[in-house]
Amino acid sequence: MKLLHASLCLISLLLILPSIFADSSSGDFDFFYFVQQWPGSYCDTQKSCCFPTSGKPDADFGIHGLWPNYKDGTYPSNCDSSKPFDSSSISDLISSMEKSWPTLACPSGSGEAFWEHEWEKHGTCSQSVIDQHEYFQTALNLKEKTDLLGALTKAGINPDGKSYSIESIRDSIKESTGFTPWIQCNRDGSGNSQLYQVYLCVDRSGSGLIECPVFPHGKCGDEIEFPSF
Ligand code: 5GP
Ligand code: 5GP
Repeated sequence: MKLLHASLCLISLLLILPSIFADSSSGDFDFFYFVQQWPGSYCDTQKSCCFPTSGKPDADFGIHGLWPNYKDGTYPSNCDSSKPFDSSSISDLISSMEKSWPTLACPSGSGEAFWEHEWEKHGTCSQSVIDQHEYFQTALNLKEKTDLLGALTKAGINPDGKSYSIESIRDSIKESTGFTPWIQCNRDGSGNSQLYQVYLCVDRSGSGLIECPVFPHGKCGDEIEFPSF
């Protein structure tokens, strides 16, 4: 009887061990969402926006973040408070970040508060694969490789305040990147649905796009606006 009890205990321990190691606090993950925002849609809301201290950003998609995610749709966050944002470790990347990862929140800032937030909330959860410098470098490389505005304008979809079908937007990005994006909308001052963010999925190493294992929730209308910036 005792032997049976002991073996049952051992078996249950072996069964729960993997789930202990898969605990979200360990900060491991399955893939990344690489999220880019259209500045015209961040600004064209009831809340409005502020240009960064470095000046009005380019009329192009900007990086929002590189977010570790699980295949079941959940995600880890704020994984390591012992590794704060350290701008001196990424000083060689700052000028590229001002261009490709501009902040539009008010009050105006240099971008450091935005980058710090993204590193602390999301970046710290990818340290099993990439360190802080690699995290920002990886996002910049992905931005270089995915020309969303080029993909859209090539298909005749321009930031001119007109409406376009969400299908044509999705198809043109798929045509250019090879992968199906997820489109997130927000609402302009009059309540119209508009193209806000584009999500693409990236493998765990951060080196290449993949088909998304899971898409976020939420829905745009069939026709959405593409505001100017
Ligand atoms: P929202 O609710 O505005 O879509 O997202 C707010 C914030 O929650 C995002 O900026 C991001 O930090 C986080 N977030 C929302 N959805 C996801 C998701 O599917 N995956 C990850 N990793 N983070 C998300
Ligand atoms: P998330 O939604 O990624 O969790 O949080 C974004 C945070 O970064 C918010 O606190 C937001 O105020 C700040 N932030 C600063 N600049 C920007 C920006 O240009 N776009 C977005 N989405 N958030 C920004």
